Amino acid sequence: MIVDSQTCKEIIKLLNLNIKKSLGQNFLINPNISESIANYLLPINDEKILEIGPGLGSLTHYLSNYTTTCLEIDPILFKFLNDTYKNTNLNFINGDILKFDVGDYDMIISNLPYYITTDIVTYLLLHAKKAKRMVFMMQKEAVNRFCDTVNCKDYSPIGILISLLGKIKKEIIISKNNFYPSPNVDSQMVVIDLDINKKTRDNYAIYKMCKSLFQNKRKTILNNLTMYLKDKNKAIQLLNKNNINPLLRPENISVEEYVKLYQSLHFSV
Ligand code: SAM
Repeated sequence: MIVDSQTCKEIIKLLNLNIKKSLGQNFLINPNISESIANYLLPINDEKILEIGPGLGSLTHYLSNYTTTCLEIDPILFKFLNDTYKNTNLNFINGDILKFDVGDYDMIISNLPYYITTDIVTYLLLHAKKAKRMVFMMQKEAVNRFCDTVNCKDYSPIGILISLLGKIKKEIIISKNNFYPSPNVDSQMVVIDLDINKKTRDNYAIYKMCKSLFQNKRKTILNNLTMYLKDKNKAIQLLNKNNINPLLRPENISVEEYVKLYQSLHFSV
């Protein structure tokens, strides 16, 4: 079923739906945009697709020719979609993405519930071991958290993890008027392409190390590394060895430098 402004209101009325802000329920009501977002997936073989939070089915409609599992936490929406798409390739599951086994999916798509955007992206990067492409819509403000590079304001461990595993690209901005109810801010699409060979134990460990080193962003890398290693002399040695100025802050250290730090810590190179 194509979801536009009219059908959205009809479904809400039919289900007597109490829209849950607490679950980030802002439904996409522009079918042209829904279709163009779904087109970013373009599976070529029989890739397994996961849609997170199908809601009223705005994107889901355009995924029905593929092998798609749709995971929705809201039992009322789950039942509605399960009944609507009874005899199709679509498989609906009622559940919480943060407790769901995502290991089997090749591609993941979602108009993300904004209240757990970072948690979901992090969970997927760490656990969706086969996923090659992730297509997300998120609040525009959240995008830099994933895309910013060294010396930028929102450079972060999760952005570093994405760089270690693949690359991220900012795509179209979607005005808040294309949603019902309309949120306070616009959204933006991002596409993350991942190299499954880079989903290694070492890259995950580098991410964990960066998470610790970013814990006190205002402090120097020397302070953060000292706390991480519980050894100031070792921290000084390690930074010297890698030509990293100890007075820099975590956001001034490049991904390559974090990799070198990790390697000299673990492989004595
Ligand atoms: N895909 C629909 C669209 O584009 O119109 C709905 C998107 S809405 C922004 C987010 C959806 O995620 C809602 O349907 C909400 O119920 C669902 N959701 C929220 N938290 C969830 C969770 N932890 N696991 C699975 N789905 C969740």
